[in-house]
Amino acid sequence: MKGNIIVFEGAGQKLQQQEREIPTLKSGEVLIKNLYTTICGSDLHTFSGIRKEKTPTVLGHEIVGRIVKIDKDHPEVDQAGNKLLEGDLVTWAIFCSHPQQDWLDKGMPQKSDDLFKYGHAKITDQDAFHGGLSEYCILRAHTCVLKVPNELPLPIAATINCALATVAGAIRLAGSLNGKNVLVTGLGLLGNVTAAMSKVAGAAKIIAVDVNTDRLNGAKSFGADFIYNSNDEPNLSATLAEHKIDIVFDMSGSPDAIELGIDSLRTGGTAIWAGAVFKTRKIGIDAEQVIRKLLTIKGLHNYNFDDLQYALSFIKDQYLNFPFSDIVSKEFPLNEAQDAFEYAIEHRPLRVGVKMDQ
Ligand SMILES: [Zn+2]
Repeated sequence: MKGNIIVFEGAGQKLQQQEREIPTLKSGEVLIKNLYTTICGSDLHTFSGIRKEKTPTVLGHEIVGRIVKIDKDHPEVDQAGNKLLEGDLVTWAIFCSHPQQDWLDKGMPQKSDDLFKYGHAKITDQDAFHGGLSEYCILRAHTCVLKVPNELPLPIAATINCALATVAGAIRLAGSLNGKNVLVTGLGLLGNVTAAMSKVAGAAKIIAVDVNTDRLNGAKSFGADFIYNSNDEPNLSATLAEHKIDIVFDMSGSPDAIELGIDSLRTGGTAIWAGAVFKTRKIGIDAEQVIRKLLTIKGLHNYNFDDLQYALSFIKDQYLNFPFSDIVSKEFPLNEAQDAFEYAIEHRPLRVGVKMDQ
């Protein structure tokens, strides 16, 4: 059996479609027919050279697909204990490793040794089906898999294992949001999901800050009560301070936004940083302010298995209550992946989708 993959050789080079023989499954592996992949911000960073990846590779890690075959050594249950069958729609963690108890105990399996990451691995002769821009994906043994309900639209389901799960991790780190005032900086998909999850978690007021007015207007329908364009507001940290911010989530990675968030927190506040997954300048923090205001700063990279489960249960319950059906603004077939990336870079929508033949 053969399948097509889209090969990325490096920034500035055109994506190439290649047909490859699908290898026989190894112990504990699962063969997936990819159905839909959304292009994540980090894919765009790699594509445009802001971020380096070992090449050649198959990009795309926000994937949803159906099980084609399960190796006999697989336990045949998902992370929630549901029986897995051929034909099931599934999402899976973007990372996997041999289970390592110390990292599991810390709630950080995403930092295990010898981690493998889907959509980030170098292609070899034997191993090319590990990304989203591909007709098939082979899930390695011990990959955290979750069954997805068939009624969940594929463009939404695709975002579970990166955007939604990462925000679920950020929300976990924040603790209870009930009655809290929340600031979100950076209103891409992560920022919008943060607003929606905060709203559902009972936040009293959600304030959104970005440099793009269209994105800010969109954020209102994801739960933002107040929006500010940081380019238009000369004294924004004073304005934000009046909102008595308890929690700030930075989803932008912008050093200016991160500094603004810290400056805007009230006493006892917490900053959660999840956006800066690329090199930025060092930020300036006033240590005296952190001490006197008893501030807490936490970083989040990827997510753990509980976060992935939370992301799935959140979207199952909420996908009709917020405009999740609008997050993909344009869809391309797999053999037009190059156009999909170019469109995403030119128009910067929340997501561009790549739809595989079903
Ligand atoms: Zn991602």
